Amino acid sequence: AAATRVRHFDGTGRTADGTHIQLLANVGDPKGAVAAVEVGAEGVGLFRTEFCFLDRAEEPTVDEQTEQYLAVLEPFKGRKVVVRTLDAGADKPLPFLTDADEANPALGVRGYRTAGRHPQVLDHQLDAVARAAQRSGADVWVMAPMIATAAEAAAFVALAGEYGLSTAGVMVEVPAAALTADAVMEHVAFASIGTNDLTQYTMAADRLLGDLAELNDPWQPAGLRLVRLTAQAGARRDRPVGVCGEAAADPVLAVVLAGLGVTSLSMTPRAIPDVAEALRSVTMDECVRLAGLAVDAPDARAARDAVRAELPTTL
Ligand code: PEP
Ligand code: MG
Repeated sequence: AAATRVRHFDGTGRTADGTHIQLLANVGDPKGAVAAVEVGAEGVGLFRTEFCFLDRAEEPTVDEQTEQYLAVLEPFKGRKVVVRTLDAGADKPLPFLTDADEANPALGVRGYRTAGRHPQVLDHQLDAVARAAQRSGADVWVMAPMIATAAEAAAFVALAGEYGLSTAGVMVEVPAAALTADAVMEHVAFASIGTNDLTQYTMAADRLLGDLAELNDPWQPAGLRLVRLTAQAGARRDRPVGVCGEAAADPVLAVVLAGLGVTSLSMTPRAIPDVAEALRSVTMDECVRLAGLAVDAPDARAARDAVRAELPTTL
């Protein structure tokens, strides 16, 4: 059988003039972690822990969770792994955490919001993440999904701290969190922008509906403006701000995100070499200029066309 060829990159994402943009992997299981190491990812920018338990009717025990997380963390000894707490609900229901009868699950009790009803599930998970972190020797960062307010961010960071998880942050994927990013950043060590949900909520277009794909496009200037607001707020407080939505895997959009001020990009492992190549082809000044073209464009298609026209056609 033909060997699967894995393209590598040299291990550090950089623009042509040397600005470091960390290139990280999105993973959901140990297989994904191995793929991330093979491709040369600098670490994991999004570990979707809910993927470990999608078929489970009952909450997994702390011991069981610890083993599952450990299997993903172990290949990343000494390296950064951003563990996201359970993002249950909407497109990823977990029977032990979410209510199947909501009329609008995308606007419902999902992600961090489930902690209001089931606080012990978040407690148990943070306990397991802390145990796995200690055993693995990975540099574990922890973040909560679906944060809408600075108060939620503060509560999550405080709770994570109780388990010894000192590098705690939030996903910015609700427009309210992006619009109040300065207040959110006061409480967190970092933020990671989820462009999949941020686009869906900005455009009021269900990400699961193919008919709305044109609206639900990460190139929408409205969403890019929220990315910029968030990155700027992070820069003011010296907090790293990454992107971990699918947008980060588009090499041309990755250049724009870097220009908007994002400091890391996390994506499916196989996209990393192409994104690395795109970043190497442009200076940071060019990224900033191209980002300006995109945010000032009238719509997603115009934004994409304007930026593409300025870059080599091979990207
Ligand atoms: C996102 O919303 O962009 C994200 C990374 O999270 P998920 O796709 O798991 O909702
Ligand atoms: Mg999301």
